[in-house]
Amino acid sequence: IIEVKNLAKNFGKNTVLKDITEDVMPGQVIVVIGPSGSGKSTFLRCLNLLETPTSGEVAFTGENLTTLDAKRVNELREQMGMVFQGFNLFPNMSVLENIKLAPMKVKGVDDKTATQRAHELLQQVNLDDHADAFPNSLSGGQAQRVAIARALAMNPKVMLFDEPTSALDPEMVGEVLNVMQDLANQGMTMVVVTHEMGFAKSVADQVWFMADGYIQETNTPDEFFSHPQTERAQDFLSKIL
Ligand code: ATP
Ligand code: MG
Repeated sequence: IIEVKNLAKNFGKNTVLKDITEDVMPGQVIVVIGPSGSGKSTFLRCLNLLETPTSGEVAFTGENLTTLDAKRVNELREQMGMVFQGFNLFPNMSVLENIKLAPMKVKGVDDKTATQRAHELLQQVNLDDHADAFPNSLSGGQAQRVAIARALAMNPKVMLFDEPTSALDPEMVGEVLNVMQDLANQGMTMVVVTHEMGFAKSVADQVWFMADGYIQETNTPDEFFSHPQTERAQDFLSKIL
């Protein structure tokens, strides 16, 4: 569903991604791990063209994003939900309004349909009792679950997560990972950058280990954590496990 071919990305003289070729298949859960500064966020942002690749191709559902006009890129990007470390909810709108906004504004969904769908999504993330709350009254874990519901409201084909639990107090990490696990169980295609190795082990179909501008290893979590192939990965795992 996503095909990355010879992707490279520089910021000035800083070559962050050197040459990445990987595919994400429908329904797959990919967990991307690697040292800080290795380019994980940059890679994720290249997948939906929030960053423009310096060279190479990124195709989504068969269309090469790097050659499309901005309008078509925007249309395709709507089908790729993204959740960041920070929640970026609109503070002046209720939880329900946050979720309804994009479907109504961007897709022209009517109010009744959008409201009904927003409630369904809030049930899915166990927050329907907070529909009328405002973001500043929510805990970090609640806010992140709303951010996930908001991304899902556009009915994305893929969800991209960039360290969705890194900014949370430890006791709230689990509730967000549970929602992500449910999503994976429902068959959502997901690319997840995370330091949560427990999540990687139990939910990922593949772990992609990124370092020095390359994806150094792709493997099942069982294989990756028990028999890392590269010295780079062995070194990384020895520091974090
Ligand atoms: P972390 O684990 O800390 O989130 P990361 O693996 O996500 O790190 P990136 O944020 O992708 O790494 O950054 C990779 C490199 O690219 C870093 O050296 C960073 O300084 C640089 N970089 C990222 N974004 C930009 C930008 N917009 N302009 C210039 N340099 C950037
Ligand atoms: Mg990052």
